[in-house]
Amino acid sequence: MPVIDLHSHSRYSDGALSPAALVARAHERGVTVLALTDHDSVRGVPEAMAAAQVLGMEMIPAVEIEEPGLQDALGLQAGARGLRARHIAERFDKLGLAGSYEAVLALAGDPDSIGRAHFAQWLLGIGRVNTMQQAFDRYLGQGKPADVALPWMPLEAAVAVIRAAGGHAVLAHPGRYDMTRTKLRELITAFKAVGGVALEVATATEKPDIVRYLGQLTTQFDLYASQGSDFHGAHMPWIELGRFPPLPPECRPVWQLWQPVQAPV
Ligand code: MN
Ligand code: MN
Repeated sequence: MPVIDLHSHSRYSDGALSPAALVARAHERGVTVLALTDHDSVRGVPEAMAAAQVLGMEMIPAVEIEEPGLQDALGLQAGARGLRARHIAERFDKLGLAGSYEAVLALAGDPDSIGRAHFAQWLLGIGRVNTMQQAFDRYLGQGKPADVALPWMPLEAAVAVIRAAGGHAVLAHPGRYDMTRTKLRELITAFKAVGGVALEVATATEKPDIVRYLGQLTTQFDLYASQGSDFHGAHMPWIELGRFPPLPPECRPVWQLWQPVQAPV
């Protein structure tokens, strides 16, 4: 039965071990498939691949993209939402419908929370449309006069880089972002929309209820699930290669997406 650990670090990022030493340690602990996921770097991959080949292990070349960090990306995203609201309001001004910005700001309460539905509500309120749907059909929907796309650039760029390299984008440890479940669902929606395929469900430090919840999210969002220790070195003894909770049974493992690795039976 393969032991698959898809999250580990070498000294090419903030890990303590060389890629070869990391692979050797993983092998000693029974890991049969290892992904090296250094932060923003794949420089350790060749050495790890060579070491894995000697030991008969399977090595998955990978990277953990942190730049721009997710918190930054989300902050930027919030700013983008506020900016989009101003652009939509300008469109309405040009259409001869003044005062939309003040109205939607009053409805939303804060500038970064303004969404298209607030504009629809405003149009309904001033009698320009008879239903919310009509507001989208006539003004706010795709290709309509007040349609302004919301950019998800940092996330989109990170996923695009992974996809261009032939990789599968996994959202790392979604339980650790200190965000509400609503915000997390928004993030996962955006991640999937730009081509993300999996959530990291099981890591060494994740609590059982969070693992269960993330497992449920993969089902709800039709995403695959990943697992890994996020091992950095022996200086963090609470994390060891190959050690993490099992994926919940309903999860489809991300390794189903690549051929040579067989799922555990
Ligand atoms: Mn991380
Ligand atoms: Mn990591």
